[in-house]
Amino acid sequence: MSRTPLIAGNWKMYKTIPEALALVKALLPHLPKDREVAVAPPFTALYSVASCIKGTALKLAAQNVFWEREGAYTGEISPLMLKDVGCEYVIIGHSERRQYFGEVDKTVTKKVNSVLEEGLKPILCVGERLEEREKGETFEIVKKQLIGGLGNIQEIQKIVIAYEPVWAIGTGKTASPAQAQEVHKYLRHLVEEKWGRENSEKIRILYGGSVKPENIDELMQEEDIDGALVGGASLKAETFVKIMNYG
Ligand code: PGA
Repeated sequence: MSRTPLIAGNWKMYKTIPEALALVKALLPHLPKDREVAVAPPFTALYSVASCIKGTALKLAAQNVFWEREGAYTGEISPLMLKDVGCEYVIIGHSERRQYFGEVDKTVTKKVNSVLEEGLKPILCVGERLEEREKGETFEIVKKQLIGGLGNIQEIQKIVIAYEPVWAIGTGKTASPAQAQEVHKYLRHLVEEKWGRENSEKIRILYGGSVKPENIDELMQEEDIDGALVGGASLKAETFVKIMNYG
């Protein structure tokens, strides 16, 4: 089963509008042909980046979303607004949202559903913390986050899963390809159990956590790793161009 790889850059709370434009302009001439590439700028730069990448193969993603379409929710951004600005993907349940902003599986489910309703594609993040890995709870945690986060959704084909072990995010410590593969295989197995074999073979599972040009090749050689969610190394054109053109 061949799955189109997806390399997504999560810019987090970095980049002013001019900086964001300079970065995408530097990426555009180097887009690979046989795989998808997406960038997730901060909300303030989405419109400018969308205008700049219009008509190109580069995809736009948002880093977060609220679950209502519109309403009196001061400070929030809806799936409708993200679609309007040109997003195709939305990162949901990132560990930084869980850690600092009280994101839990229940809110993740609401976000996943509302994003799907608007015709956007969720990138659902799951991953264990260091103490959970050390206690041997990795599988239990990612199962809870995956099944708890997706609920009983029908449109499983639209979902991208990102396995991001929290201890590997921004720390320079990457999970070894074998460690990542073990969890990716387990996640695919969970999808098979609940949504069937065909869906499990089609769903893309990205790895995230200190991905860099030096480790992308070996990660992508693993059978169940279908791409990467890249933080720090997506902030510079030089490193992100190398990552998206891995292999
Ligand atoms: P990192 O972040 O590549 O800087 O570790 C990944 C992420 O948080 O998505």
